[in-house]
Amino acid sequence: MSKEMSRRQFCALGTASAVAAIAGGMGMANRVNAEGEAEQAVKAHAIGDGNVNFSQEVDVLIVGAGISGMMASIDPANAGLNVLIVDQNSMYGGDAIYSAACQMCSTAQLTKEERPEKYSSPEQIREKFAPYYVGNEAGLDRTVLLQDWTGRFIDKMHYEWGYEFQPLRESPYHQAFFPKDGLCTMKSEFDLINEKVTEAGVQYLFRTTFKTLITDENGTICGARFIDKDGNLLDIAAKAVVLATGGYVSNQEWMVRYAPEYAYVANIISGRKGDGIAAGVAAGGVLSGMKATSNLNPRFEAGHMLGTFYPLIALLPNGKRFYCETAVHNAATGCLNAGFYEWYSIWDDVAQNGIDQEVILHAGEAVQTCNSIEELAEMTGMPLDKLQETFAKWKTICENQEDPDFGKTLFLQELKPPYYFLRNYPVRYKSLGGLKVSDRMEVLDANDAPIKNLYACGCTAGTEDITPAAGSGMLLGTTLVADYVG
Ligand SMILES: Cc1cc2nc3c(=O)[nH]c(=O)nc-3n(C[C@H](O)[C@H](O)[C@H](O)COP(=O)(O)OP(=O)(O)OC[C@H]3O[C@@H](n4cnc5c(N)ncnc54)[C@H](O)[C@@H]3O)c2cc1C
Repeated sequence: MSKEMSRRQFCALGTASAVAAIAGGMGMANRVNAEGEAEQAVKAHAIGDGNVNFSQEVDVLIVGAGISGMMASIDPANAGLNVLIVDQNSMYGGDAIYSAACQMCSTAQLTKEERPEKYSSPEQIREKFAPYYVGNEAGLDRTVLLQDWTGRFIDKMHYEWGYEFQPLRESPYHQAFFPKDGLCTMKSEFDLINEKVTEAGVQYLFRTTFKTLITDENGTICGARFIDKDGNLLDIAAKAVVLATGGYVSNQEWMVRYAPEYAYVANIISGRKGDGIAAGVAAGGVLSGMKATSNLNPRFEAGHMLGTFYPLIALLPNGKRFYCETAVHNAATGCLNAGFYEWYSIWDDVAQNGIDQEVILHAGEAVQTCNSIEELAEMTGMPLDKLQETFAKWKTICENQEDPDFGKTLFLQELKPPYYFLRNYPVRYKSLGGLKVSDRMEVLDANDAPIKNLYACGCTAGTEDITPAAGSGMLLGTTLVADYVG
């Protein structure tokens, strides 16, 4: 493709800052054709940028090397397409690689085999979720579809690629799969996924930040613009562009607009500004499902996730328990609902010497130690009399094996000094909603028509959590093969 042609015929669409301008028709101009009729044409220049100048051409250009983008890349590359994944980071993995790695899935063959009581067929999923989607049949269909693909992800990892998830442990989360080395050890899964990505012939380009989509003279998506690691513009031509840049939890303006409940809760994630979502909107896409996510996280995963597998109690600054500690996702929201902005998680040698060392390491020096309840009171500022009361109550709960306050049924075990404790606070860590997509992960316009050559997956397409992101990427992989091979 000649660079001169590119300069004249292509238009780079703006992202976040330019969305409003583009929605208002910027970038289009009237011109008169040979017959003297007025026609609308795309101006051959980039909005607020230099001219388009393609220096590389691929079949499929995936923006974002998170789990959704990586999973989307494999089938098209195996089918012979030239696939490039571009990411602003210097490493693949996105958010999931340093997540707690709790992979919810009840639809896998592996679920059926290992933990049949947690397995649900697509029909059962439909029945289970129907009450949440009254009057929204399309929403229910999408949930059933994505749940099905979460199972395909787990099964691909296990049966096809030979990954051994951690064997089932005593926990309330038997519908969750964990990596073989325990909490927060997603790296082993990513190493395998990366092996499959590179084996398929996919190329990566890191430290390169997505800026805008590029359209040709007909307004059809034909590539994307980036800023490379040295600060230069980089225009890449592509037959298909996949937006997989994750969600928008770092975009404060959007949080205020779409998820005001959590907008003023501390944010733990940088670089998820919704760049892909904004670019999709600039290209004519529409937003869907933009609202607050289902839960918040603690600053340190150890503070809640250890409660999944070990005896642990969590106390508010007033020294009182406030949630069932095995229902880990109620910690941060429960703390806020109780009117506090911090809490303490306390465990003993059982968890400290357990197999989940990585999650403890993630908390670093935030984990403190003490040898008595008195010391705990002194080091945390929790009132000693309340702490003594709570520990005495906990002893009774353990003796009776019954928790009348919060209904906890697992790990009702007295804690023995030394105690390990962590001061935690609620943070926001994910967003919900994104670009409206079809069941084939095509980005849809306001008339529900697919925007040619533009696709999205993962949080950019409104999924929440690891397995739906991975599954939506795989689903998109099959679409790309169908649309661009043979
Ligand atoms: C601390 C934490 C703990 C979590 N724990 C769990 C858990 O236990 N279980 C669970 O199911 N989910 C968990 N999640 C959520 C889960 O990690 C995400 O839902 C999932 O990783 C989303 O995948 P994705 O591919 O859609 O996006 P991401 O993982 O966000 O990947 C997007 C990629 O796009 C890149 N990108 C963004 N903008 C640009 C740009 N302009 N240019 C170039 N590249 C760009 C990013 O660098 C990133 O690599 C957790 C998240 C966090 C942050």
